[in-house]
Amino acid sequence: MSRFLNVVSVADAITAVMKIAPAMRTETVPLEQCAGRVLAAPVAADTDIPGFDRSVVDGYAVRSSDITGASDAVPALLRCVGRVAMGTGTTNCAVRTGECVYIPTGGVLPEGADAVVMVEYTGITGDTILIKKPVSHGENVLLRDEDFRKGEIVFRPGRKLTPQDTGVLAACGCAVVTVAKKPVVGIISTGNELVPVTSVPGPGQVRDANASMLAAWLTEYGCIPELYGIIKDEREAFEAVISKALPECDLVLLSGGSSKDDRDMTAGVIADKGEVLIHGIALAPGKPTIIGRIAQKPVFGLPGHPAAVFVVLVTIVRPLLDTMLGIEKPLLRTITAILAENIPSQRGREEYVRVRVENGTATPLFGKSGLMHTLITSTGLVCIPAGYEGLEKGREVEVILW
Ligand code: AMP
Ligand code: MG
Repeated sequence: MSRFLNVVSVADAITAVMKIAPAMRTETVPLEQCAGRVLAAPVAADTDIPGFDRSVVDGYAVRSSDITGASDAVPALLRCVGRVAMGTGTTNCAVRTGECVYIPTGGVLPEGADAVVMVEYTGITGDTILIKKPVSHGENVLLRDEDFRKGEIVFRPGRKLTPQDTGVLAACGCAVVTVAKKPVVGIISTGNELVPVTSVPGPGQVRDANASMLAAWLTEYGCIPELYGIIKDEREAFEAVISKALPECDLVLLSGGSSKDDRDMTAGVIADKGEVLIHGIALAPGKPTIIGRIAQKPVFGLPGHPAAVFVVLVTIVRPLLDTMLGIEKPLLRTITAILAENIPSQRGREEYVRVRVENGTATPLFGKSGLMHTLITSTGLVCIPAGYEGLEKGREVEVILW
């Protein structure tokens, strides 16, 4: 009989964690530091962008109706009446019929002109400019507010800002940006057999792989990892470390000790200090996962095996963090691929299988969950929904990328 009597689906686990997500807090950061952060307040353009009609080429500002039919053989002849200087609003040279004005890229389109002819299609004889190609109304011109209108909302909250966004924020006059505070995530490794990475494991010992992996992933995801080291499978040690971590963190992740073995203490300690909401998720690997809450803060008991930890991190912890960060749309990145082999599965139980994707083909990796191999060989996960007796070779599948 299964030791996990109340295994829940991944979808139910995600719903449960989203419900216990602590509320998002905000802070402001300088513009140059906002990339990678999640925007927490809308940003509007404080001015029209561009703020004036401007040329996108070097050439001559003209009235397009003056040069219809201009060609190499029979150029239109226009009198050049001035030059537009960069960085000045007033061009004291309006373009009247039969006239043109030299304009550099980005220059303010003079009054009367409605288009710009590229310098490549022109020639000069004295004051007269030879125009060898017609332009249509508006050609080579960016109109005032064509990018963004003053007051227009350019960014909405919940967006993970990119370096490109920073450029647009700068144009909008946003020197400081309101973003979600980085969640502080406590990381605790449990197990009598664990030794730190700097030790050579003795008989029966293994190096703590989870703490570093969790810290690295969390940092990349926009959190602040707080490492509490390795603790023994002893109740006092569990209680002490949880009591220390809770006030300092927004979320606490323990790894190891999450099964229902006698030594496995996590569930008992969480239950005593708070509540266990879920113990067992239909994930393979990753089934022995605990989701609990102490003093209004989520506390996870993750499996021990690093490969299993990673699967739970991506499928369950990530949606929690998305909620804590106020991310509008979950950031699950997926690709489609053709399955290279059959994946068997028990009907009635949703399952996730790690796959390696190469050239559009997804090969399932059925390795034992205790091996770390798949951490470096897999590309992501394929979900076999409940009710399916596996997936057949040749079928198109959606792969959730790490
Ligand atoms: P447990 O859930 O505590 O029974 O652990 C399951 C397996 O994961 C055991 O083989 C542990 O030695 C291993 N394990 C637990 N924690 C870690 C860790 N931090 N790094 C590497 N392996 C671990
Ligand atoms: Mg253990």
